[in-house]
Amino acid sequence: MHNSNLSDSIKDLFKSKGIDLVGFSKIQNIKDFDYMNDWLRNGFHAEMKYLENPKRQEPASSIDSSYVSVISCAINYNLFDIRENSLNSKKNNMAWIARYAVIDDYHKILKKLIDNLMQEVLKIHKLNYKVYIDTGPLLERAYSKYAGIGWVGKNSCIINKELGSFFFLSEILIDKPLIYDNPVREMCGTCTKCIDSCPTNAIVKDKQIDSNKCISYLTIENKNIIDNDLASQISNNVYGCDICQEVCPWNRKVKIKENFNWNIRNYFISPDLNELLDLIENNWEEIKINSPLKRAKKQGLIRNILLAMANTKDKKYIKRIKYYLTNENQVLATTAKQAIFIIDK
Ligand code: SF4
Ligand code: SF4
Repeated sequence: MHNSNLSDSIKDLFKSKGIDLVGFSKIQNIKDFDYMNDWLRNGFHAEMKYLENPKRQEPASSIDSSYVSVISCAINYNLFDIRENSLNSKKNNMAWIARYAVIDDYHKILKKLIDNLMQEVLKIHKLNYKVYIDTGPLLERAYSKYAGIGWVGKNSCIINKELGSFFFLSEILIDKPLIYDNPVREMCGTCTKCIDSCPTNAIVKDKQIDSNKCISYLTIENKNIIDNDLASQISNNVYGCDICQEVCPWNRKVKIKENFNWNIRNYFISPDLNELLDLIENNWEEIKINSPLKRAKKQGLIRNILLAMANTKDKKYIKRIKYYLTNENQVLATTAKQAIFIIDK
């Protein structure tokens, strides 16, 4: 039997505490598992072998068959004006760090918030639950879609027509039925702005991203030398890439998230390349604390900054780049050579 009291109380409580969107879906076999398999077969996951975990191709109930429902939550991280963006930053030869990464790492913040909310729920309703904040083998976008949070855009992001796509997604599995939501209508229409704007042509098919070419993957997950042709295309993006979201018309007028303590680090918003390199070289131990940037590691960030400097074509950076030519770290030494080549071309 559906539990309307439970459904209403979860939605009311979560929304009152800063979760922007909440929706429910039933755990079941969904056709998105085929889509995931196709993506993997094409090798579009690059070196992210953990995505081959077979559990991702099974319903969430395979984690524990007692779970029957997924609560999908979305929290908007649109913390500053969309006119402050990577493309404008590029015009001024500034670096760009993806919007989600200029704040504290969201995983811990959301886990704590959602656990606290579930403790409130448990005071009234008896149930078991398990929280996923990008932390397990769940197809989170698929579950968000079935929960009516938004549709999957051609850029593969979940888009909500009021709140755009700058969201952190999380899921809670519970062992109680709920009043389930319906997917919303897809509203990309004939638009192809994200596909046309992607600097590396990484959106290879409708909703399919080839990570091997995607700047987000190249600048964060990839720890090796970036291929020459892609190195000049990563432009000013030193951690992640927001371009296919920035150009999306659904992000043009979304409201700025206020009253939520994400601890914005202003020195990461459109930073000067020299200043950013100083910061990473000299203050890494301090700034990596609670920062998403630590996923790229110090070496990865320096590699990306050297390439971003080269991509400005401004020879004022040559001295700084040359310093790394003799670095004992081969990725940095080779990247410095690559950067000199790009700047001289
Ligand atoms: S994140 Fe950047 S590189 Fe990746 S698909 Fe979007 S625009 Fe292309
Ligand atoms: S830019 Fe256009 S096609 Fe791409 S996700 Fe947004 S609406 Fe859809």
